[in-house]
Amino acid sequence: MAKATGFLEHDRQTIKYRPVDERLRDYKQVITPYDPKTLTKQASRCMDCGIPFCHQGCPLGNLIPEWNDLVYQNRWKDAIQRLHKTNNFPEFTGTLCPAPCEGACVLGINDDAVTIKGIELSIIDRAFSENWIMPEPSAIKTGKSVAVIGSGPSGLAAAQQLCRVGHDVTVFERDDRIGGLLRYGIPEFKMEKAVIDRRLEQMTAEGVTFRTNADVGANIDAKELKENFDAVLLAGGSTTSRDLSVVGRSLSGIHFAMEYLPLQNRVCEDKSVQEPSISAAGKNVVIIGGGDTGADCIGTAHRQGAASVTSLEIMPQPPNVRAVENPWPEWPRIYRIASAHEEGGQRLYAISTKRFIGNEQGRVCEIELIEMRQKQSDGGGFEEVDGTATTIPCDLALLAMGFTGPEKDGVLEALGIQLNTQGNVERDNNWKTNLDNVFVAGDMQHGQSLIVWAIAEGRSAAKSIDEFLMGSSTLPAPV
Ligand SMILES: Cc1cc2nc3c(=O)[nH]c(=O)nc-3n(C[C@H](O)[C@H](O)[C@H](O)COP(=O)(O)OP(=O)(O)OC[C@H]3O[C@@H](n4cnc5c(N)ncnc54)[C@H](O)[C@@H]3O)c2cc1C
Ligand code: SF4
Repeated sequence: MAKATGFLEHDRQTIKYRPVDERLRDYKQVITPYDPKTLTKQASRCMDCGIPFCHQGCPLGNLIPEWNDLVYQNRWKDAIQRLHKTNNFPEFTGTLCPAPCEGACVLGINDDAVTIKGIELSIIDRAFSENWIMPEPSAIKTGKSVAVIGSGPSGLAAAQQLCRVGHDVTVFERDDRIGGLLRYGIPEFKMEKAVIDRRLEQMTAEGVTFRTNADVGANIDAKELKENFDAVLLAGGSTTSRDLSVVGRSLSGIHFAMEYLPLQNRVCEDKSVQEPSISAAGKNVVIIGGGDTGADCIGTAHRQGAASVTSLEIMPQPPNVRAVENPWPEWPRIYRIASAHEEGGQRLYAISTKRFIGNEQGRVCEIELIEMRQKQSDGGGFEEVDGTATTIPCDLALLAMGFTGPEKDGVLEALGIQLNTQGNVERDNNWKTNLDNVFVAGDMQHGQSLIVWAIAEGRSAAKSIDEFLMGSSTLPAPV
């Protein structure tokens, strides 16, 4: 246990962001590290509760009270060993996870939860800076081969697990760089891409082979790949963006968030690319969708020099504290302020887009909006509020309304993979698809989700693949 009275002595203090005026001038990561004194105090707030509900809150089953205690005792090397037992990539989750563990923290019943995510990040940052993160190649070789299609967090977690038990693993990625949404969705200011590269160095040294510009089902024959590898893992993500069919959708200047965000990431990665082909510079930007992807568009638009940024959300603004029907230890559905929201712009709730209005050049110049309210009858849902239609200027509209599932053509069609009623890849309890040696993990079977789920599912699918190849497996299966 960290310290018997820590939670009585110290208030919760989260990791700080760089000042807004400084961070808006660059794309560097906004978070700053904890200073050592604060960190020890924060770790000491973990109170040795009887049943650590944070374990259930975390899809990886991270051993949170154990590493909090080790940090408090200054036993950092033990802390990273404990953390890596359940999480291949604490640097991704420590930076980007919305921390459902903190929503389930027992201290959160009547006080502020332990700052679990910040402590997780501090442990892995320290481990990298001390050079404790070394390749862990397998001592044996099984002679079995696995193809992983997709290099997001689920594919990477599975690849590392499978390589470490001696299989020959090749990761196929259609993009020019490895990382999935970590690389080309999440902006540099949320997580610098060097963080992915240093982990890929470890994986390469362990023996994982990475093939980029390798689009399975397009320039790589999917059936041949299935024949040539003993097992295949589909980890292609949930990449079909949800569209908005309203009048004016075909005007120019209206883009999916995932057409816009990757362009800036490419500029940040590759100094020879000067300007993104879609830019918010000087424009009135309207972002449709108030979630994480929307927040990433807000932060990017501000850095590019937008004239104004407005984000629209059809749902009402969530409450500041848990509602009675959303009790602990559930994920708190409350109003959240991401770093990008602190940087400016307007957030409108309970509002819907009626139509896009264009100028003579066929380019969007305004959006007509209307207020929404909860229906009092007819089984709920939302309805427009008469007389509330209004227009706002819009030179760039970004659609950030989520994703409807994996792309149905390409590799899924080529292999004849069955889908479930939600349009995601159907699987059994062993992560197997309708084909004997083809497995699936991450958003491709879950639908749009979180990094922590993708890593957990990649780990579990790796165990099933190992069992399929070897008859049994010592790998863990968190979910
Ligand atoms: C803009 C944005 C911001 C987000 N921010 C957060 C956040 O802050 N925190 C969080 O927890 N989650 C966040 N998420 C969600 C999170 O990124 C995803 O849940 C997670 O990345 C899913 O991992 P995955 O491995 O299943 O798939 P992905 O990360 O989507 O990776 C799939 C990869 O497969 C590749 N691929 C697809 N088909 C093929 C093929 N046929 N051949 C070869 N390669 C293929 C794709 O190019 C892609 O690189 C965000 C999502 C978006 C879109
Ligand atoms: S991975 Fe996410 S849920 Fe798990 S301990 Fe870390 S921050 Fe919490």
